[in-house]
Amino acid sequence: MYYKKYGFTDMQVSAIGLGTMRYDDEDITAGRLEKCAEIPLYAFEKGINYFDSAPFYCQDKSEEITGIAISQLKRDKIYVSSKTSFYAIGEEISRDTFRRRLETSLTRLKVDYLDFYHLWCLLSLESYEEQMDALYGFFEEAKNEGIVKNIVFSSHMQGKEIENVIESNKFKGMLIGYNPLNYRFRQSGIELAYEKGMGVVAMNPLGGGLIPQNPLAFEYLTQGTDLNVAQAALRFVASHKEITITLAGCTTKEHVDDAVKAVEGLKEYKSSEIVAQYVDKGMSFNNLCTGCDYCKGCPVNISIPKFMDSYNEKILGGNDFEVKDRILYHWGVKIEDASKCIACKMCEKQCTQHPPIIERLKEIAKIV
Ligand code: SF4
Ligand code: SF4
Repeated sequence: MYYKKYGFTDMQVSAIGLGTMRYDDEDITAGRLEKCAEIPLYAFEKGINYFDSAPFYCQDKSEEITGIAISQLKRDKIYVSSKTSFYAIGEEISRDTFRRRLETSLTRLKVDYLDFYHLWCLLSLESYEEQMDALYGFFEEAKNEGIVKNIVFSSHMQGKEIENVIESNKFKGMLIGYNPLNYRFRQSGIELAYEKGMGVVAMNPLGGGLIPQNPLAFEYLTQGTDLNVAQAALRFVASHKEITITLAGCTTKEHVDDAVKAVEGLKEYKSSEIVAQYVDKGMSFNNLCTGCDYCKGCPVNISIPKFMDSYNEKILGGNDFEVKDRILYHWGVKIEDASKCIACKMCEKQCTQHPPIIERLKEIAKIV
């Protein structure tokens, strides 16, 4: 296993972290939690020492399953993370609800402290400010007590927006989606986080499965390697100097082996070097939006990159339901905004990929 230093700390973390949102659904439904726990135990055997968990994953059993494994490992050999937000709490925001959530996570994970506790799912600067006001004080209190070692955040915001959160200097690290489809949304964010000495954990390195499901579109990532497309996509992310940990969601031991292979003999490069290497490759496939954000400045404030990123799902084999799901729950944008377009064409003139943005927005506006 290849290890990296977590930001400006002394923590040595594995370049691959275990994302614990993909335990086998049938086993969970049948109550075979011990069997699911074989995955984190196997991951640890293979050198993975970072376990990313959260309430609600896997029928709300992820923390419990991960805890079964963690209780069999030496606590000081692993890093354990979980998350909370007021969306997750779904109750009145108070110290009591925050504590109840935190204590539940500790109990389920069978630990006395969390190495990383995330302010979960910052969808926009507005939601960031709301969550900071409501929750950050409770995070600090838990940190002062020693039950949370590091306060971190997770976000689906783009690079520029993420920069605002990083500049607050309130967080030791961040968890963001990063993959060969969306890296341009996030590149400036990871660069700033790295410069500031934050740890950067990348989730969704396979684009929610879109990348392995479309091997021809992403074959260019495998050139000069003996890796398959999924492994090559993991290596693409892990090889960024600015990214500390790449999360791999594993259902089987073979998935763990795949992820471990992806970082064998890993070489790190600055993101600017990686982007330069891939700039002319693959990314214009079927007019996919690459998240470059050159289309900013819409006169009616449509979040064009977010809508076009969601439409990518359809181009890569998805359907309207998946497009809608991504708009609403990944980006947190109102689908009705798509119908505000006045067809001024500003975005289409500025876009380097030349997708028919206006047509796609019309199509999205009709999704119910
Ligand atoms: S064409 Fe529509 S989406 Fe594009 S900038 Fe003009 S109003 Fe905004
Ligand atoms: S300019 Fe084009 S490719 Fe870039 S984010 Fe906007 S729609 Fe996507």
